[in-house]
Amino acid sequence: MADTNAPDGARAKGAPVRNVLIVGGGTAGWLAAAYLARTLSIGQPGGARITLVESADIGILGVGEGTFPNIQRTLRRIGIDESVFMRESEATFKQGIRFDHWQHAPGSGERDHYFHPFQSAISRQDLDLVPYWLLGAAGDGVPLDTALTMQKRVADAALAPKRSGDADYAAPLNYAYHFDAVKFARLLRVVATDLGVRHVVDTVDAVPLDETGAVAGVVTRESGTLTADLYIDCTGFRAQLIGQALKSPYQSCRKWLFCDRAVALQVPYDQPDAPIPSYTVSTAHEAGWTWDIGLETRRGIGHVYSSDHTDDARAEQVLRDYIGPAAGDKTARTFRFEAGYRPEPWVRNCVAIGLSSGFFEPLESTGIVLIEVASVLLTSLFPWAGDMATAARQFNRIMRQRYERALDFLKLHYCLTRRTDTAFWRDNADAATVPDTLHDLLDRWRHRPPEGLDFDLNLDTFSEASWQFVLYGMGYNTDLSAQAGAFRHMDEARQQFAAIRASTEQALAALPRHRDLITQIYRHG
Ligand code: FAD
Repeated sequence: MADTNAPDGARAKGAPVRNVLIVGGGTAGWLAAAYLARTLSIGQPGGARITLVESADIGILGVGEGTFPNIQRTLRRIGIDESVFMRESEATFKQGIRFDHWQHAPGSGERDHYFHPFQSAISRQDLDLVPYWLLGAAGDGVPLDTALTMQKRVADAALAPKRSGDADYAAPLNYAYHFDAVKFARLLRVVATDLGVRHVVDTVDAVPLDETGAVAGVVTRESGTLTADLYIDCTGFRAQLIGQALKSPYQSCRKWLFCDRAVALQVPYDQPDAPIPSYTVSTAHEAGWTWDIGLETRRGIGHVYSSDHTDDARAEQVLRDYIGPAAGDKTARTFRFEAGYRPEPWVRNCVAIGLSSGFFEPLESTGIVLIEVASVLLTSLFPWAGDMATAARQFNRIMRQRYERALDFLKLHYCLTRRTDTAFWRDNADAATVPDTLHDLLDRWRHRPPEGLDFDLNLDTFSEASWQFVLYGMGYNTDLSAQAGAFRHMDEARQQFAAIRASTEQALAALPRHRDLITQIYRHG
């Protein structure tokens, strides 16, 4: 593929970059605006000037409700109080994801779920406990998610990961959030405009290019042509700048990730004081899976599915059957997408962030994570001196690898399935639908568990702990028999597993009910 950022573009000649125009006001647009406003000395002498234009006619997607724990650091860096964020976005705590029926079909008699917790092993020990778990030191048949961390049992008991007196963004257990995506974008808008971002409500009708092939400006319906040194395309699936105008190719990943549609509903709880689950429930179905996310007053539920393996009517029926009577005659929203990404999200003077850059099904909340990653990267690589092409090449290389590695992690959830009940699951387990890079990882782990050396946290969103919980949750067999004699600390490992069990009992007695803590935060901060 031709490198559109070869160092001959106008910006490579050194025109300084000060004016930034963000097109789009969804989660991507406002999160990038708030993050850049905070980190690029907006409005200060020598700082950047940021404008965000969003259309009143084209809505935001508004369904990104699950996040990953690094959202805490992003919100802290932007300078948002946790209690304000939670109240304004109707946020609840998310301690992980429970996967139901991914390994075995319902009714198989096997353990029908596993948990991907956000808290890894309590790290006071020097001993890596995972090999000892594989050798049985945690007890026969005790799953990794229960042996290694207290979080599963805390979450199962509908308790919160933190206590009422804990400081903002601090708690005994790691966590992310569920929230109302529309309210979250609204909060970010207030924060970003308070930080000095200029807000224009208008629709972009055309994006002319200059003689070098860079964006010359965006033509709006009422505000004339808006120009900037750097454009950020946050127009969602429309990709109006990066795709329609600049023609940066989209690389489909559909041959690995089959799901390409979703149908979603919101329903109230059966009882207003029902426990709020502090994890996403991800339930596998015949041709896809459902997410089930609990906010304070409602559940958001959606069915993600493959149109090659089912049809829309059947997919909606699966969703309604999962929800039960609460679905009533509520109208469901439908979404179409193609798993994939742009290998070059930064072309000349335009950077794509959010859905315009790429999208994988929302199995592990990679949508918002990758918006955060792109915002952090753009801050670090910001081409103050006009070195646009250099920054673009590094940004593109890192984002491409981020997408490729996230793709492997998502496919891991599918490819180890033992389900054979439908073509969807049989196709997912077919080795030909597994990327070579994932085959390579699985080969490595035949005789040792995933370790830090397998990952690079500049490029990987998910650390070895996440990989271990999914890998062993799906029943993968790492055979340590050849080196069992090398693990000489079985007694110490047994003691540490016992210590985790004891701490779990203490946590179960000490942590508040999730709903109680949410109510308190909303009322009193
Ligand atoms: P959008 O929300 O679509 O915003 C686009 C913006 O661009 C809007 O403001 C629109 O007005 C503006 N715009 C478009 N064209 C123009 C124009 N011509 N002129 C002016 N303005 C324009 N991610 C997660 O992390 N967790 C999840 O749980 C999750 N669930 C998801 C479920 C589904 C079914 C889908 C499809 C996605 C999900 N995602 C999730 C992804 C997440 O929703 C997105 O990453 C996130 O909402 C960011 O969207 P966006 O801002 O890029 O685009």
